[in-house]
Amino acid sequence: MLQVNALTVGPAQSNCYIISNPENHEALVVDPGAEPTTLISRIEELKVKPVAILLTHAHYDHIGAVDTLRDRYEVPVYLAAEEEEWLSNPNKNLSAMLGESVTARPAEYLFKPEEVIEIAHFTFKVVATPGHSPGGVSFIFEDDEFVITGDALFAGSVGRTDFPGSEPKELIPNIRQKLFTLPSSFTIYPGHGESSTLAHEMTTNPFFN
Ligand SMILES: [Zn+2]
Repeated sequence: MLQVNALTVGPAQSNCYIISNPENHEALVVDPGAEPTTLISRIEELKVKPVAILLTHAHYDHIGAVDTLRDRYEVPVYLAAEEEEWLSNPNKNLSAMLGESVTARPAEYLFKPEEVIEIAHFTFKVVATPGHSPGGVSFIFEDDEFVITGDALFAGSVGRTDFPGSEPKELIPNIRQKLFTLPSSFTIYPGHGESSTLAHEMTTNPFFN
């Protein structure tokens, strides 16, 4: 069984997930949004070896620690093609809105739609869940029965759709089609806030009732 360690970092309280395999100590780092020192300490405490950085999307609060971690662990960065330019563009990644300039170097790998990805001994499926942002993706870990949902689906809520590049009409249908069709026992790990299950969100999330 994979282990999912959540760390909430930065002023936007973004969730970074360290997904690790206790047998071989390999780890995926999802959305290292800020506080690289905090993330590195946890990685060292866990005694795991990062093999890649995965991004659910490229808003500033999900990418702030990307370059520090990729340099330290010499790992590639994976992102949806639609947001390829956002890593280097503070207007696109919205850091400019705060008067800041959060950037990262280009991703090494651009996801294709509905792709099954194998990295080291990890296998997961990438599904497009845009609406909050055009390249928003979720990562399905079928054998371990969980989904990383980024800023698409939250516990009790969904991502904002009033940003540049948001598509308010797309988000809910995408979540219904791509996520609510998975087994309802699956755990969700969102980009902000607490984890939940698909069953709980399908029955209680006010955006779907
Ligand atoms: Zn976002």
